[in-house]
Amino acid sequence: AKFVYDFTEGNKDLKDLLGGKGANLAEMTNLGLPVPPGFTITTEACKVYLDSGDEPVALRDEVTAHLEALEQKMGKKLGQPDNPLLVSVRSGAKFSMPGMMDTVLNIGLSDKSVKGLADQAGDERFAWDSYRRLIQMFGKTVLGVDGDLFEDALEKAKAAKKVAVDTDLDAADLKKLVTRFKKIVKTEAGRDFPQDPREQMDLAIRAVFDSWNGDRAKLYRRQERIPHDLGTAVNICSMVFGNLGPDSGTGVAFTRDPASGHQGVYGDYLQNAQGEDVVAGIRNTVPLAELEQIDKNSYDQLMQIMETLENHYKDLCDIEFTIERGQLWMLQTRVGKRTAGAAFRIATQLVDQGLIDEAEALQRVTGAQLAQLMFPRFDDEAKTELLGRGIAASPGAAVGKAVFDSYTAIKWSRSGEKVILIRRETNPDDLDGMIAAEGILTSRGGKTSHAAVVARGMGKTCVCGAEDLVVDTKRRRLTAGDVVVEEGDVVSIDGSSGKVYLGEVPVVPSPVVEYFEGRMHAGADDADELVAAVHRVMAYADRVRRLRVRANADNAEDALRARRFGAQGIGLCRTEHMFLGDRREMVERLILADTDAEREESLTSLLPLQKQDFVELFEAMDGLPVTIRLLDPPLHEFLPDITELSVRVALAEAREDANENDLRLLQAVHRLHEQNPMLGLRGVRLGLAIPGLFAMQVRAIAEAAAERKNAKGDPRAEIMIPLVGTVQELEIVREEADQIIAEIEARTGTHLKLAIGTMIELPRAALTAGQIAEAAEFFSFGTNDLTQTVWGFSRDDVEASFFTAYLEKGIFGVSPFETIDKDGVGSLVKSAAAAGRATRPDLKLGVCGEHGGDPESVHFFHEAGLDYVSCSPFRIPVARLEAGRAAS
Ligand code: ADP
Ligand code: MG
Ligand code: MG
Repeated sequence: AKFVYDFTEGNKDLKDLLGGKGANLAEMTNLGLPVPPGFTITTEACKVYLDSGDEPVALRDEVTAHLEALEQKMGKKLGQPDNPLLVSVRSGAKFSMPGMMDTVLNIGLSDKSVKGLADQAGDERFAWDSYRRLIQMFGKTVLGVDGDLFEDALEKAKAAKKVAVDTDLDAADLKKLVTRFKKIVKTEAGRDFPQDPREQMDLAIRAVFDSWNGDRAKLYRRQERIPHDLGTAVNICSMVFGNLGPDSGTGVAFTRDPASGHQGVYGDYLQNAQGEDVVAGIRNTVPLAELEQIDKNSYDQLMQIMETLENHYKDLCDIEFTIERGQLWMLQTRVGKRTAGAAFRIATQLVDQGLIDEAEALQRVTGAQLAQLMFPRFDDEAKTELLGRGIAASPGAAVGKAVFDSYTAIKWSRSGEKVILIRRETNPDDLDGMIAAEGILTSRGGKTSHAAVVARGMGKTCVCGAEDLVVDTKRRRLTAGDVVVEEGDVVSIDGSSGKVYLGEVPVVPSPVVEYFEGRMHAGADDADELVAAVHRVMAYADRVRRLRVRANADNAEDALRARRFGAQGIGLCRTEHMFLGDRREMVERLILADTDAEREESLTSLLPLQKQDFVELFEAMDGLPVTIRLLDPPLHEFLPDITELSVRVALAEAREDANENDLRLLQAVHRLHEQNPMLGLRGVRLGLAIPGLFAMQVRAIAEAAAERKNAKGDPRAEIMIPLVGTVQELEIVREEADQIIAEIEARTGTHLKLAIGTMIELPRAALTAGQIAEAAEFFSFGTNDLTQTVWGFSRDDVEASFFTAYLEKGIFGVSPFETIDKDGVGSLVKSAAAAGRATRPDLKLGVCGEHGGDPESVHFFHEAGLDYVSCSPFRIPVARLEAGRAAS
């Protein structure tokens, strides 16, 4: 294999091999943009290293060959004393990932070559500044020295000279600092800072490889569901210098606003600076627009390049650039992260610009983003106390108690508190705290700061760069003018406006939800734009999707809401919910009935109530299918709690006034008690064990349908039998049901066209689906129970007990109850679908259960050829969108 690619050899589609940064550096190189020459070591080399603990044998020679070619091109050698070539060593995985090793700049500098660099640039200060940066970065990231030690030494040097910023230190100061830094390295790392340039480079490369398995990187991958075996590439890039004086500098930019999608000039620039200085907030950056005054040529060229990149990538790009003495260099680009709202807007804007088509627009948004937009936000009308305003970095409305460090954030959130993590700025060490917090607030840094980027990625509310807030992490307080917020005080942050409030601000629904609800009134322009974009994208999805989307809804109210959200029927109406409340006692009597007469009596009293439920449901879903599942849960759910009742009876007996009824009840509860109710008397088993129960339900459905028919309605009921394991069970229920339906049709003079089908939620049902289809007109895959029974996991227990450990060990990347387990449960779904259709070609196939609203699972069900998914009303828009994305 080839382990090293020159920037001229790669392209943007090679992200697996070259990582995102490397692939895009190559793409820009080949577009003719000014990229400093360099080469990329592949992820394959990293994988070999990680697997074997050593670089592949061929790697060293390949690196040497590419380095020599680079030296030739640049006319200087790495670290050459009189005229040194310097390089940066930059990590770059397929997905950008916090926790990966920070870039090391200025590799090749040594006690000797620092003088050569000074001569070459005619600037001694610059050379020593570059050298102290190298020792600092190398010491911290490659040798593992605590970065604060360098920071403190730098602060001291500034204090000694009574200056505020690093640019005020002169060559002599920096030279002294270098000596100090080298001492720190020696003491802390137990070795000298390496003077051999090639050794510097090789150690840095290794450190990048190793950082793939750092704790932070691993945590991030789990969070983002990025596979652990991708490996990272390493980019070696010849240095250009933004720290060569006021005509140099470095900056970051977006080709359009990552929060609104609007075109314009968005970014930050910092003069006389290198690398991370812009995002680290060590000095105040200026808005990118000001570059026009500072260096018009570079500015114009940058605008030109941004346009080239947008047209080429046909998307929002973010870029990192450096200006060296008036010469512009591109150091990175990638398709930029954006807020959920911006994703919808940008997708439609690009369609309008003719850059992408509707199918592509669908690929530019995700169901997860839509879900995010359906979050509530703060009430505009509420009386609030504004503390200050920062940059709206990641949308949402978050309320919580102020905490000032990650540790407290984690501790408090574990004990059930909602917290807002407040920091001057965040760094990768804050990741766990950010995860634990409701939202993140920083006083420094722009849209491209760590806090902003990571929060956006996590979909977490974030306000950053709220500069009028003074954050004092030592004393755990925040000051805004004369208001002081102490740890534990409640604050509210609005990630869509950047506003920060004292106290709890009430929250209102999102405009997108209002729109789906059909309640959209003329609101703010911003909300209108967003709603218009969502509306258009939903229309694209509805046009192309093949999967229909139904709702899980048990009553008319939910059904109506589901319809507004675009449901095309009900895929699961759980009848047990209809037996709670006042009716629970009737069911209790039914279960405890000793005689047929008693049983008949309770059934007769339940029938009209149940019928009325269905009349309302059919009316709400008129003209659309309504799948009603007959009673499913274990019996004991309708009986009193065994412990409570035992205690009550025992107490009564002690008082010698035990009541006959309670004693009888207790006996029955004991008799019906099951060790493992989920595998016990429930579903169709219940229907067969309690005579008349299913018959009553079928009667209620048929009579309700007949009533609606006679009222000129269009009821389309589907009767669903739960927990079937064998076709015989279904046949018995069916026979009785057919009789009842025929009788009611005859009596009412209607033709009801009631379909009878079953849930497939037991492995045996899936395995004998071909037989079961003989008695079923439809299958609905109950993937919750099917997951439970295929894995042998008790859904009610495992998530809290060992799933965290399983997720941490990488046994699965996500709970199989959340996203369908394609290989196991999914393959059973596929084979059962095929077997069912082989028996009955027009068998209707659907899914009910949480998976029906999960983006990844929806794609799977599309591919498996199902007819519909059914999910909770709120997830319907997400399912519609994902079904469209799956089909386009
Ligand atoms: P990250 O993945 O954290 O963005 P990068 O590898 O992009 O890290 O490096 C961070 C910054 O370092 C870049 O934005 C750029 O400013 C600077 N940098 C990297 N390589 C070079 C180089 N060859 N010359 C000048 N600056 C560089
Ligand atoms: Mg970068
Ligand atoms: Mg079930």
